[in-house]
Order: sequence, then C-alpha cells, then structure tokens
Amino acid sequence: MTLFDFHTHTSISDGHAAPLEMARRCQQNGYSAYICSDHVDEATVERRVTEIVEACRQVSRELALPAVPAVEVTRVAPDRVAKVAARARSLGALLVVVHGETIGDFPQPGLNLAAAKCPDVDILGHPGLITEQAAEAARDHGIHLEISAAGLHGMTNGHVAKVAALVGAKLVLDSDAHRPEALLTSERAHQLLQGSGLDLDQILRVSQAAPFDILARRGIEIPMPQTAP
Ligand SMILES: [Zn+2]
Ligand SMILES: [Zn+2]
Repeated sequence: MTLFDFHTHTSISDGHAAPLEMARRCQQNGYSAYICSDHVDEATVERRVTEIVEACRQVSRELALPAVPAVEVTRVAPDRVAKVAARARSLGALLVVVHGETIGDFPQPGLNLAAAKCPDVDILGHPGLITEQAAEAARDHGIHLEISAAGLHGMTNGHVAKVAALVGAKLVLDSDAHRPEALLTSERAHQLLQGSGLDLDQILRVSQAAPFDILARRGIEIPMPQTAP
C-alpha cells in the first residue's frame, strides 16, 4: 500500500510548521513522498516557489524521503490562473494544485472551469459544488478532482465524488494539512474515502492508482520500496 498527499502547507505560506517538520511526520505516517504545495499568487509565486524548491532539496538530503516541490495557486482570478500556474512550473514547481471553489471561503465563480482547462494544472483542489461542465473539462484535460480532508473544504466531498462518477472524472484524496497533526494516515484516508460514498474498488483507484497517474503525467518517479518476490 502507498500513501500520497499532494496538498500540504508549511510556514513558507500560512502553515504552522517548517517543511522539515511536516516531512518528518509524513515519514512517520508512512507517506511514499513529501509533497510541499504552499499557497502562491501573482505577488508571491517567484519568492515562494524558490523557497519550496529549496525546502524539498533539504528534505531529500536530511530524510530518506523523496520530496516534490508543488504549489497551490490560491485566490487568483479565473483569467489569471493559467499564467500563475505556468510561472510556478517554470520556476520549478513540478505539480500544480488550484484552490478551487470551496464553500469554505468566498469562491470566485468561473474559477473551477478556468482551472479545469489549464494545461499546467494537475489537481483542482476542494472544488466545492463543482458543475458537471467543470468536471468534464477536468476529465478532458487529465486533471484530478480533490476529495479534501480539511474541515469546511471537505463538506462537499460527497457531491464531488458523485459528479466525478457521473462524468468519468478522476479523484484524488489530499489532506490540505496546515500542521503535522492534520496529515493523513492510511486508516484516515480509507475512512474519508468511504465517507465520501466511494465503494472499495473506487477507494483503491483513488488511493493507489490516482497518485501514480498524477506523477506519471509529469514524468515524476518516486522510488517505491521493493516487495519480496
Ligand atoms: Zn485551498
Ligand atoms: Zn490548501
């Protein structure tokens, strides 16, 4: 079994722990990699991606855990998302999450759809009451829709799972952790997916197949522990 989590925050943005501390807990919890995806917008993308890339280098050096630099493009107007996502990628972010239209804050109408059409986006984070149109666009562009372990963001997980199944879009589970205690465990991941209305086949697809689809799409290789033949 593997455990991935593409959406975590650190003190580089509004998280409460340093990247190394988050990564240590990821390792304790059995994560297969540490993925640092702090918030960026037009004003912060240059500085923060540089910090995220450096933090991931430090984690890889100090812990025997692969570390992947990523971002969450947050509170950027729909017509600017593609530009910020491309900039983050050009600066070294290997994966791009977009802060979608969660009911947990003030969603910008049109943001889900804009992000779902963007070639540099990998995951539409906590997409709230996503429309079928936006979910179809995500499906067509190889973007995964997020089931969120985070409080208000997760209140629409059942809806997200339903719309994804309806249109054939793929799902991924993320913690959106801002502190080490909020990171996933395998048991918690299973509970959250079950609680989102998924059956066992769907749970396995989301937890065991989706992460490798996301990584493979960007050519990211995570060495996995060898199992005995
Ligand atoms: Zn977010
Ligand atoms: Zn987040």
